[in-house]
Amino acid sequence: MTRYAMVIDTRTCIGCTDCVDACRMENDVPAGLCYDWVVEATNGTYPDLSTEFRSERCNHCAHPTCVEACPTGASQTWNGSNIVVVDATICTGCKACIAACPYDARLIMMPDGYIGKCTFCVHRVAKGQDPACVAVCPARAMHFGLLDDPDSEVSRLLATREWYTLAPETGNQPNVYYLR
Ligand code: SF4
Ligand code: SF4
Repeated sequence: MTRYAMVIDTRTCIGCTDCVDACRMENDVPAGLCYDWVVEATNGTYPDLSTEFRSERCNHCAHPTCVEACPTGASQTWNGSNIVVVDATICTGCKACIAACPYDARLIMMPDGYIGKCTFCVHRVAKGQDPACVAVCPARAMHFGLLDDPDSEVSRLLATREWYTLAPETGNQPNVYYLR
């Protein structure tokens, strides 16, 4: 499997939500919906507290329970990679994938009823471009690339910085990494 990763530096992210706006524009996400979002988390114990901004989305899991749960094959991986996409033409809107995703990363696209989600901007990745959120980030907090390549920026960051993923205990093997 070709494994793509997104690496997000929580020390650099300023919580501006430009990533969310860029995603909406790039993917024609209807008003009121979003494929990514920014969480403001408080870490530590009083009085030693710190705030962390975290841009979240589908984790493009190496073990995608959403794909396994989909009865129609609409939820699928792209081109032998971990990038998870939905074929809206065969999605019945049954919501089995929503129940199976531990990251709450899928939403129902109204009025048609099919499932929408982050695709890592696969149409851009296919052209060798970064996802729109990564490209637009004014703080340069977001990075995207191949985990298989030890010389890629994402591989080098993960080799030299402390990082974590969200809910690794799910066993889904998420591919969005957060630098501490
Ligand atoms: Fe599927 Fe959810 Fe993992 Fe995305 S985060 S690949 S929607 S299980
Ligand atoms: Fe598959 Fe669509 Fe059902 Fe999700 S809602 S499991 S993508 S058919």
